[in-house]
Amino acid sequence: MSPGISAASRGRFAARTVRVRAPGKVNVSLNVGPLRPDGYHSVASVYLAVSLYEEVAATSTEEPGITVSINAASTLDLDGVDIPLDERNLAYKAAAIMRDVSEKATGVHLDITKRVPVAGGMGGGSADAAATLLACDALWDSGLSREELAHLAAELGADVPFSLLGGTAVGLGVGDELSPALAKAQMDWVLVCADYGLSTPDVFRTLDMLRNAEGLEAPEPLEVDAKILQALRNGDPDSLSKLLVNDLQRASIELAPGLRDTIGLGEANGALAGIVSGSGPTVALLADSSLAAGELAEELRHLGHNALAVHGPVPGARIISDTLL
Ligand code: ATP
Repeated sequence: MSPGISAASRGRFAARTVRVRAPGKVNVSLNVGPLRPDGYHSVASVYLAVSLYEEVAATSTEEPGITVSINAASTLDLDGVDIPLDERNLAYKAAAIMRDVSEKATGVHLDITKRVPVAGGMGGGSADAAATLLACDALWDSGLSREELAHLAAELGADVPFSLLGGTAVGLGVGDELSPALAKAQMDWVLVCADYGLSTPDVFRTLDMLRNAEGLEAPEPLEVDAKILQALRNGDPDSLSKLLVNDLQRASIELAPGLRDTIGLGEANGALAGIVSGSGPTVALLADSSLAAGELAEELRHLGHNALAVHGPVPGARIISDTLL
């Protein structure tokens, strides 16, 4: 190609790649209410975006249609993991929604680099969807506001709006009614990733079953403990460690009893407290400094676990490059 003459200026199709990264999340608190008529449960949760990112490179293609490829970052093993590449993929669904609202939509290829454990309770698929919304918005000059993107995100899944927003937020409704919360300092965590997944609907069903068997009503109305927000605002991991709560944890442990040992092992090796992240099976261990998190992760790796030190809050989905090919 002659220097200075782009494919577009010669009237040929000019491919462009927009690369976006979006964070996974930990639920610092997760209270689960009753099953709603729409099949979802009402929840009240404090979400924290952590420094484990999915990356989506969206490239415009001359041929119409949406294609998806997936590769794993070095820290993630995708052997034996089943992720659909067709219209069942959440990123595919996000591109399809954007195509419907974008006048300048072209074909698009989505190349997803996964770091967040699949079916791990950290919203990895949701992060792919959030990243794809933002990437296609830029690729097709749709010019949607963050608020409009958040509406589309909520159609894709309860956790997608949070990956778009990032930071720290209270989530009500099914988790999609978000109010940003202040966090003065970073909190340091160690994620212990399992080599299996848990289906989120199965975990919710198991919680309902356990509650029924015990004659317990699901709590309602739900609210977030103000002390959790205060501990995050003050950057106080000690106080936060005493307040971590996840109503789904007992259901995750019912399905995967080894999770209790993982939490115990983390706490025995210096974690302030541990909790199952969302529906699990990833375990999030709170540390009191980045140094402590690094040491704990190292020790757990030494013991044969897949452990990663991360921190949060981090920003939501962001464009990291935009290249004309
Ligand atoms: P959440 O915490 O939001 O409930 P999760 O992190 O536990 O979700 P995901 O990794 O998002 O779970 O994926 C759950 C299932 O969704 C997978 O088992 C897979 O079959 C399907 N899926 C669809 N799209 C994707 C995607 N882009 N990445 C991963 N899984 C996907």
